[in-house]
Amino acid sequence: MPRQRKTKQRDAIEAVFESNHRPLSPNEVHDLARREVENLGIATVYRALNDMVEEKLLRSVELPGLAPRYEKAGLKHHHHFHCNACDKVFDLDGCLLKNDLKLPEGFNVTGHDITLSGTCPRCGEETPA
Ligand SMILES: [Zn+2]
Ligand SMILES: [Zn+2]
Repeated sequence: MPRQRKTKQRDAIEAVFESNHRPLSPNEVHDLARREVENLGIATVYRALNDMVEEKLLRSVELPGLAPRYEKAGLKHHHHFHCNACDKVFDLDGCLLKNDLKLPEGFNVTGHDITLSGTCPRCGEETPA
């Protein structure tokens, strides 16, 4: 498939990922990019996200029980935090896999996914501002 010509829509969607450093759902991308391009449709967002995954600009973030989010490809190993209240996903720096995990013989680990959940600072406040 030939590389699509860059459009204003596509520029706005790329800019969203430059200024938001956390995994974003298609709806979040839509809301944020629409501030730049008013008539942006959700179908355009889905298409652009798929294209950007194919072009290896983005990777999809699959979290158990949640709709896929998207983040920039090539980020270093990190984990995610899901806020149960606002449904946003945040990046956590570093790795929290402890080294005392005992693997039975013959198992070869090539990766792991760990997602934490709870409330983000905004949602954890007792009296939201
Ligand atoms: Zn929250
Ligand atoms: Zn890790």
